[in-house]
Amino acid sequence: MKEIICTCCPKGCRLQVDEMQDYRVTGNGCPNGAVYGRQEATNPVRIVTSTVSIRGGLHPRCPVKTEQAVPKKQVPAVMKALEKVELQAPVSRGQVVLQDICGTGVNLITTRSM
Ligand code: SF4
Repeated sequence: MKEIICTCCPKGCRLQVDEMQDYRVTGNGCPNGAVYGRQEATNPVRIVTSTVSIRGGLHPRCPVKTEQAVPKKQVPAVMKALEKVELQAPVSRGQVVLQDICGTGVNLITTRSM
């Protein structure tokens, strides 16, 4: 039995996920918690937010994020890939910085114009 706190809303329900019963979730206050608990127990994913270097911008770093969540185990590789990125201003919000980052099928995009 895994215990997971649901982060889908501020209520923060304490979920119990039973691996022996096909990842049945209890303790959830709504259906979203059941989906979240099963996902966390089987294949946890995260949206990565960070910054990358930019030349000629208002600031030396430009904020970026993954367009969708990526497998949690891939997060260190994604962060490593960001170290090699250097943008050239101007960039617009939502611009693709890296396609299919680390083979996740997810793009990395800017979150502000600069
Ligand atoms: S299970 Fe539902 S009510 Fe409980 S924290 Fe998650 S989203 Fe909120």
